[in-house]
Amino acid sequence: MKKLASFALVAFAAACGTGQPNSPDSQLAADDPPMLGVHWTKDEAARRAAAGDINEAAKGARRSPNMTYHGGKIMPTAVSKIIFWGPSWSNSTFVGDKITGLDSWYTGHSGSNYAKTSDEYTGTNGQVGATTTHQGHIIDTSTASGGGSTSAILNEVCKQITAGNIVPDAGGNGYYAVYTDLKRGNAGYCAWHSAGTCGGKAVQFAFFWNLDGDAGCDPQDSTTGHSQGLAALANVTAHELSEARSDPASPGAWYDSSGAENGDKCAWTFNVPSASFPNGTAWKMQGEWSNAAYTAGTGYPNSSGQKGCLDGH
Ligand SMILES: [Zn+2]
Repeated sequence: MKKLASFALVAFAAACGTGQPNSPDSQLAADDPPMLGVHWTKDEAARRAAAGDINEAAKGARRSPNMTYHGGKIMPTAVSKIIFWGPSWSNSTFVGDKITGLDSWYTGHSGSNYAKTSDEYTGTNGQVGATTTHQGHIIDTSTASGGGSTSAILNEVCKQITAGNIVPDAGGNGYYAVYTDLKRGNAGYCAWHSAGTCGGKAVQFAFFWNLDGDAGCDPQDSTTGHSQGLAALANVTAHELSEARSDPASPGAWYDSSGAENGDKCAWTFNVPSASFPNGTAWKMQGEWSNAAYTAGTGYPNSSGQKGCLDGH
């Protein structure tokens, strides 16, 4: 979801009457970067969809579900680097296939049909393109911070840049994905993306819980052979990277009248068992919203029955 921290509290209060202690934005300090593209758990996504349907019915409105442009930048390309953060990333049993798998996910993403599901979106700095570059990973075995603070995750990214472990992309297209070893607990979201600056340079970044055994964030992949924990991270990874490319920062680029970005609008819908990447890997990933597909009637339906999702297979 696209919500600025400053008015997220108001929105939650209006919807619920009381604050939501587990809502991610409510924990942010006033000067934290906004939490964008929150990938809600299955339960939380369903609750929000139902509330939205009620609001729409009350208004008697039938607006187009398409996203509109809000005047900001997109990411013409993405230069990714993974930070695996937390002491468990030195434990081979915990790691399993997750490190090699996520590196192959990001490498394989470039030029894939899945990458092309976000290609129609333009911004002040050009158009989203299907080519992305992966620069591998680093492991930081210091204790990780949770997803409740965008500043804490941005600080981790800046720490790695200061240490010389990341050379930020000169074009501002750096995307730094922070995979922690922390369990989600009661948080209603699986991941989010945001943006900020490190030493005056613009960076995009994302946060991920450890989703091993987490039913609320599980795509239930039974065909690719990946471990459950890797399969779950790959699905939320697809969601966040697609949103970062089409709506990276404030002021925003592409989102709908409810603040939903292209990943949000097709969250937890899977049109095919898996989609293949050019490097030969296959992944079970949710679809991504396409305004063009919705308008042409060629997409598959999202959880509200709107036929604007592309599966990228
Ligand atoms: Zn999202």
